[in-house]
Amino acid sequence: MALPPDQPREHPIAALPMADLHVHQEPTPHLDRVLARREGSQPYDWAAWRRRLVAEFPPGPDRLARVGTMRPVPLEVDDDDELFVARIADVLSEHAGAGGSYIEVRCGGDVVLREGFIELFRRAERQVQVDFPALRAEPLAIVMVGSEPPPELAAKVDGCVRLAGEGLAGVDLMCFPYRSEADWTIAHRLAERFAEAGLGITAHAGELSTDNIAAATATPGLTRIGHGIHAIEDPALVDLLIARDITLECALSCNVLFGVVPSLAEHPLVRLVDAGVKVTLATDDPVQVGTTIGAEYAAAASLGLARDQLLALTRNAIEAAFTTDRRRAELLAEVDAAAVSTVSAASAAP
Ligand SMILES: [Zn+2]
Repeated sequence: MALPPDQPREHPIAALPMADLHVHQEPTPHLDRVLARREGSQPYDWAAWRRRLVAEFPPGPDRLARVGTMRPVPLEVDDDDELFVARIADVLSEHAGAGGSYIEVRCGGDVVLREGFIELFRRAERQVQVDFPALRAEPLAIVMVGSEPPPELAAKVDGCVRLAGEGLAGVDLMCFPYRSEADWTIAHRLAERFAEAGLGITAHAGELSTDNIAAATATPGLTRIGHGIHAIEDPALVDLLIARDITLECALSCNVLFGVVPSLAEHPLVRLVDAGVKVTLATDDPVQVGTTIGAEYAAAASLGLARDQLLALTRNAIEAAFTTDRRRAELLAEVDAAAVSTVSAASAAP
């Protein structure tokens, strides 16, 4: 409906419920921010890091390989439980401060083996809920297959299964080689254990090319894929994603920065939506990428998605979230309420 030119059009993301299913914990970038705040000093300059990244590394795998390589503080700082809580709270408050109401934080390294991990995560969540009562967060574990010795992998897998009953919400599988077709035999076997334990399953695939997307969709219990955007290049993969009802976690700014798509304008997000693939928005590595969930929704709006389409992305996220039935019902009710206010605002227009 065309509005008169003097009538301000509501911004498409104003008061929109937003969810982020794909956020890495970024341990040392957040520890650095926490310590800098306490000391009244400047945190590490990630904007300068991004400028160097773009100037020095070609787009694609070489640039992507730089993720996590810059550690502004030593990882040993993370041994302190109080700082661990503070840096998780920093992730959550960044999300809530940008207008997000649901976030899943995926933790790699040895975090899943850390004493009291889930309780420390919940402590951070409660801390942030003091200022942002609507925030809900769930912890995920990253399990890398093909990049670490079998005994260490086995210990992490056991850790995930053990924590399933304590509140670990899901597992993110990463199979190596990541940039070309990997053997998913072990990942599929592990996924059976995770699914049996009641853990949600997602996997990183299809960020750089169509490689690994089909194998990821064949993972037992998998309902989501991190990225998977290159599926748009193969109609059979698009059909597969739709047939298996798999949701893609799309990270626009991240994809543009690391050059896995040529530009934001050429990102396949809208084509995936139009093709009928379920899609959500994500920040991926928000500190390194320099984004927020609000900025990602604004970027999607700039690609032409209307408010009701953005709301549908949040609905996709909540439906695919690895959370409890109670939280899902609450979050869906919030999406429904926002949809009603969108409809009533539209019908109130002249
Ligand atoms: Zn990721």
